Amino acid sequence: MSPRKSEALARRCPICGRPRMEKFKPFCSKKCADIDLARWLSGRYAIPAQESDEADSEPTIDTEDKA
Ligand SMILES: [Zn+2]
Repeated sequence: MSPRKSEALARRCPICGRPRMEKFKPFCSKKCADIDLARWLSGRYAIPAQESDEADSEPTIDTEDKA
């Protein structure tokens, strides 16, 4: 595989745009890798956990079981 110029340009850190380092690919440094990881984790944690105990306050519909 011979690297093309376009591929060389594409090989940049998605965080800061600087040339990526093989050691930290696809990032340029551990710092940018950590930033991306933090973004990813924050995205995960951003998932709303609204399933609280309030759901239990609703009456359970189990009358159909008597049918
Ligand atoms: Zn970077």
